[in-house]
Amino acid sequence: MAQEDSFLYALSSNNAWAGYKAHQNPNFFPKLASGQTPQILWLGCSDSRCPETTILGLQPGDVFTHRNVANIVSPTDINTAAVVEYAVANLRVRHVVLCGHTGCGGCIASLPSDGSDSNTRVGGVLGTWLTPLRALRAAHGEELDGIKDASIRAARLAELNVEAGVRVLMAMGCVQDAVQEGRLEVHGCLFDIASGRIRDLGFGTTKGYVRRAVGAGTGGEEVRGRHAQLVFRGGSASMAVR
Ligand SMILES: [Zn+2]
Repeated sequence: MAQEDSFLYALSSNNAWAGYKAHQNPNFFPKLASGQTPQILWLGCSDSRCPETTILGLQPGDVFTHRNVANIVSPTDINTAAVVEYAVANLRVRHVVLCGHTGCGGCIASLPSDGSDSNTRVGGVLGTWLTPLRALRAAHGEELDGIKDASIRAARLAELNVEAGVRVLMAMGCVQDAVQEGRLEVHGCLFDIASGRIRDLGFGTTKGYVRRAVGAGTGGEEVRGRHAQLVFRGGSASMAVR
């Protein structure tokens, strides 16, 4: 992105993009303007490297979205709850995807940088917001402290955060109703920034979670699991696990 004025560059890029899309498909914007019928609700991190529609290879209109710092799903957060309720009860999406990611600043800030068991502190509102991550870190201290590689330790905390968030989602009334009616699937995923791949962690309504194949602290650690692809085809969305 141009360094001189990134906003002017963004506007110019938007103009070029709109022209390209309209040229490619003259009906694209008129159809988009007629309404939305997204099949996926995406709950993710605000991190600039995790733009859901782009990394899923989808288009405007495909993904209803809520993103916050470290993709925390808190039961008392009316913002997240309103998005989930609208998406599930009104838009009737077929998939709720909670996706964390590697290299998440919120997770890194919630872990001691030196591998010690000392507490980490982030001040202000951000510190309050990240409290659930510090609580997870405390609850899983032994496992996390055993992971020597800081980036893998942060990725593991991101996984635990997704697991906790999916648990909150699955306890929401509107989600429980839709799952019982057989019209909603809930997925917990992790986006690996270094490879661009999204991995289905198997939480929620997805079965077959494959835990980390290599134990913590054994060296050569690797986070492994099933790969998943979200596919949008013929007006409906699905998640293919392979
Ligand atoms: Zn993040």
